[in-house]
Amino acid sequence: MTDPGNDAVAQGTAASAERLAAVRREIADACRLAGRDPAKICLVAVSKTFPAADIVPVIAAGQRTFGENRVQEAQAKWPQLRETCPDARLHLIGPLQSNKARDAVALFDAIHTVDRPKIAAALAAEMDRLGRRPELFVQVNTGAEPQKAGVLPEAADAFIAQCRNEFGLAITGLMCIPPADAVAAPHFALLAEIAARNALAGLSMGMSADFEAAILQGATHVRVGSAIFGHRPTAA
Ligand SMILES: *Cc1c(COP(=O)(O)O)cnc(C)c1O
Repeated sequence: MTDPGNDAVAQGTAASAERLAAVRREIADACRLAGRDPAKICLVAVSKTFPAADIVPVIAAGQRTFGENRVQEAQAKWPQLRETCPDARLHLIGPLQSNKARDAVALFDAIHTVDRPKIAAALAAEMDRLGRRPELFVQVNTGAEPQKAGVLPEAADAFIAQCRNEFGLAITGLMCIPPADAVAAPHFALLAEIAARNALAGLSMGMSADFEAAILQGATHVRVGSAIFGHRPTAA
């Protein structure tokens, strides 16, 4: 009667639903502290590296917005998941190559990683061609880390203006990934400052370890993976 394999699956299912509920409570608590409306925070459940079988229970628990960091991985997983959940919304949170711009525009509802003119131009062309307009975030490399994607903070104003004026792109907001070993709050504050002076309402910042701090500093989109799905066995 009790197949140990099925038990393990059922336990995993219950665990991710409980973790999702806990994250939602923590978002509500942070909003209460900040005097903000939790309904205005978009929780992006980062499902990168997790198979569809791990995503189904999180959809069943009511989550609708998901984040993936690779176009190809998302193309393999999501068409089928979307058949069972047509209102699922997909956000690209990983680096984008210009030769993947068409696929990205076709598949994603938001792209958080616009960070150079070549990508902005490719996205503008594909959005015109496909008649689809995903929300766009400009990624800012707030820690000026050489290995990390994103426009440098001092170049952000000019790049945002270029996206708007030269490429005709509507920009929703900014995104950052603070250095792994740094206190995140100053990076969140810097991102909020750049957004404010460019009249951008969206702030994609905060991950499993620091989404509450990000909400206190104005995050509108938090990208939470392991706190919902559990430990990621493979490097992402
Ligand atoms: C993996 C990833 C996340 C989620 O990280 P967790 O620590 O698992 O919450 C958020 N943002 C980006 C850009 C990521 O690549």
